[in-house]
Amino acid sequence: EHGPGSSLEISGISKHFRGLKALTGVSMSVSPGEIRGVVGPNGSGKTTLFNIVSGIYSVSSGSASVDGRVVTGRRPHQLSRLGLARTFQNLRLFDRMTVRDNILVALDRSSMVAVWRYVLWPIGVLREERELRARADELLARYGLTDFAGAAPGSLPYGIQRRLEIARAMASGPTLLLLDEPAAGLNGQEVGQLSEIVRSIRDSGVTVVLIEHNMGLVMSLCDRVTVLAGGGVIADGTPAEVAVRPEVIEAYLGD
Ligand code: ADP
Repeated sequence: EHGPGSSLEISGISKHFRGLKALTGVSMSVSPGEIRGVVGPNGSGKTTLFNIVSGIYSVSSGSASVDGRVVTGRRPHQLSRLGLARTFQNLRLFDRMTVRDNILVALDRSSMVAVWRYVLWPIGVLREERELRARADELLARYGLTDFAGAAPGSLPYGIQRRLEIARAMASGPTLLLLDEPAAGLNGQEVGQLSEIVRSIRDSGVTVVLIEHNMGLVMSLCDRVTVLAGGGVIADGTPAEVAVRPEVIEAYLGD
């Protein structure tokens, strides 16, 4: 029913903040259906790269494309229509809403049936509401959140909040998902659950790119890894390949 996911091609991206060179000609190529890790010491440019691909920052030079369509220079909502979704390192959940409403808001924003509201009101509104609620319940179930549907996100364990953040990103039906440090703050058991969730997302037809500091997770989960240091790519390959590269070991020793 679904394709393997989107491709992501990053070509020669540089990003300067005034005098600071955060990225210097970064290129990487992610295949459809891949789980790609992006690793590197603090300040190596990982988040800047995500912010560029997701339309938050402009580029100084270079470009990125998803399925051959240039995404650099577009607004975040346009990127969502091209199949891109992301999570943030610092959770961005609505704390005054329930878990279910957090999902409903995300679904509503990306709803293709929103047009019903104007053309066939009130039949459309009822129908849309019903469809959105059904899809929200589906997402809650898929990410193990049903039991917490009525809770405020802030009252829940951190691991559950992270799952909600992923479920919310998945509400737009993406084909490329960017995860910014999804394992940060998780305990060992939660990291295991996260790993299964990411695999099932990939298996459902979504390419996944994740920034991650948990090397155990990167080694076991990622098909390939791109290593950044000082704003440039210093290694790219399977986890086993990059782990033994001297320049990678050196970059981490200096961290
Ligand atoms: P990482 O995610 O690998 O830790 P970042 O992409 O956050 O690295 O940062 C790379 C470099 O770019 C750092 O030196 C950081 O201070 C700088 N930087 C990131 N965002 C901005 C910004 N909005 N303004 C100025 N400098 C920034």
